[in-house]
Amino acid sequence: MKKPVYLDYAATTPVDPAVAEDMMKYLTLDGVFGNPASRSHGYGWQAEAAVENARRQVADLIHADPREIVWTSGATESDNLAIKGVAELRDNPHIVTSRIEHKAVIDTCKWLEQQGIEVTWLEPGVDGRVSVESVESALRDNTALVSLMMVNNELGSLTDIRAIGRCLRKRGVLFHVDAAQAAGKLPVDVADLEVDLLSLSAHKVYGPKGVGALYVRRASEVRIAAQMHGGGHERGMRSGTLATHQIVGMGRAFELARTGLDAEISKLEQMRAAFLDGLEGLDGVHFNGSREHRVPGIVNLSFEGVEAESLMLGLRNLAVSSGSACASATVEPSYVLRGIGVSDELAHRALRFSFGRFTTEEEVAFACSQIVEVVERLRSVR
Ligand SMILES: *Cc1c(COP(=O)(O)O)cnc(C)c1O
Repeated sequence: MKKPVYLDYAATTPVDPAVAEDMMKYLTLDGVFGNPASRSHGYGWQAEAAVENARRQVADLIHADPREIVWTSGATESDNLAIKGVAELRDNPHIVTSRIEHKAVIDTCKWLEQQGIEVTWLEPGVDGRVSVESVESALRDNTALVSLMMVNNELGSLTDIRAIGRCLRKRGVLFHVDAAQAAGKLPVDVADLEVDLLSLSAHKVYGPKGVGALYVRRASEVRIAAQMHGGGHERGMRSGTLATHQIVGMGRAFELARTGLDAEISKLEQMRAAFLDGLEGLDGVHFNGSREHRVPGIVNLSFEGVEAESLMLGLRNLAVSSGSACASATVEPSYVLRGIGVSDELAHRALRFSFGRFTTEEEVAFACSQIVEVVERLRSVR
């Protein structure tokens, strides 16, 4: 059977073959398998050199100093480390976040709320962006941290992180940004954005699953408490033997992302335009998110009169995603779509299409013809 066309790059990306090839060199006896923390022999030194090279590659993509990169197991852990790490060191901290964050941020903040910490949940606009005004009006004397995503994973919408960063730096409030969907998709410069903590994941950028990083700005006011205790790795912020092969893979993936960024953006812009053009003839299609402030690779659409679940069944030849989470008997619509004010009805009719490095023009054309055919068929049998 032919594999369905993969249009779910926002969920994860395949590892770039060049990345996989590099990773293999860090596993076996004839490769660099040593423990990067072993200081007494060459096996360790070689592994450490590979880890430090990768640290620079990751730092370069976001214009950071390599000493500001802390390796983690992924963006989920980075989000936990940033938010819990700041909260733990403050007396009576108040935290500001939004209703459409990734679950790694939402559930971390909910957990802190249960521990008695005050959290303000901002309402984004209908375009899926959080405004600087809403952030500013939520600030209190004891606000310790604002945590917001740069690009929303369901909508692709882009929040003005720089404007919010400027405002928070002036007020002395720490700013954590989940950039898992932004890195490698658009320019990210931590100094220009004035962020203090920034979460990254390798597997959204053609690297392996299970590795990520937290950028921690080098400044006396930016301190986080470790959430994983042990050998004191990563300057005490995150213990655990470094996964050399994973880290090397993330480094190479981020270097590929940096050198190919402009080409990748223009390619994805073309794909997006072709995709939306290809659906032009179809009526009753609602666009979710921001048409203007967004990354090109993610398109979220609601199709009037067609349940997302039936549409996905019909679109067997496409691997796409709906935001809905099936909870036993009831299907809950996406909290992100609800959070931006999309009606329950249209939220139940939404699908996310996401493109990436290996998507071809033919695949986009095929996807459009399948969507038009299946939507029209499902509407005609109602
Ligand atoms: C995928 C993703 C995460 C989780 O990253 P993992 O590395 O899978 O833990 C967090 N935030 C956003 C915005 C994401 O897209």
